[in-house]
Amino acid sequence: MVEARDYLEKALEFHGHKCPAMPLGLRAAETAMNKLGVERTGGKDLLVLLELGDDHCAHCYADGVQVITGCTFGKGNLRQLGYGKFGLTLVDRKTGRAVRVVPRAEVQLQTQQTDFFQKYRMKGVPPTEVPDEVVQPLIDKVMTAAAETLFQVGEIHGYTEEPRAESFRSFVCEECGELVVEEYGRLKAGKKVCIPCACRG
Ligand SMILES: [Zn+2]
Ligand SMILES: [Zn+2]
Repeated sequence: MVEARDYLEKALEFHGHKCPAMPLGLRAAETAMNKLGVERTGGKDLLVLLELGDDHCAHCYADGVQVITGCTFGKGNLRQLGYGKFGLTLVDRKTGRAVRVVPRAEVQLQTQQTDFFQKYRMKGVPPTEVPDEVVQPLIDKVMTAAAETLFQVGEIHGYTEEPRAESFRSFVCEECGELVVEEYGRLKAGKKVCIPCACRG
């Protein structure tokens, strides 16, 4: 069993400020991990598909998900689907099993009615400047609520993906002299270059 509270301190440090969305990501991923019966990974044996878009509220959710699952931008086992939604699908690549967890709409709508949003965030106050007494109760609420009150949890389903090999090949761009992963090379007047150099007239 994975416990979100065991990761809260580490996640706050990684995330850099207090807000309710990051802990919600911790709890969502905790719920998915326990449904599948998997532990945090230092490798790539888990995959997270996140439905978030860009530049929207509660995007902080992604950081909680990364810290507790070990599925990270760096390891490439966290993919963003760009739906502007908060569902996450956790895949156990060893068994090909997956589950989707999504916060209940009413939970997120309630959070949007709190002072944290109404008096601070929506008025342009950055989360780093919101008083602790305003945000801490929201964190406590997310961290202690029963998972079933926060999320809808789908049934476990099968998930298959095309095997993708990690590229270890690279070359030096003939214009800028910087290292480029082989697959990203472009030809420009007979020279092998990187994408920015290919785009520069
Ligand atoms: Zn945040
Ligand atoms: Zn270049």
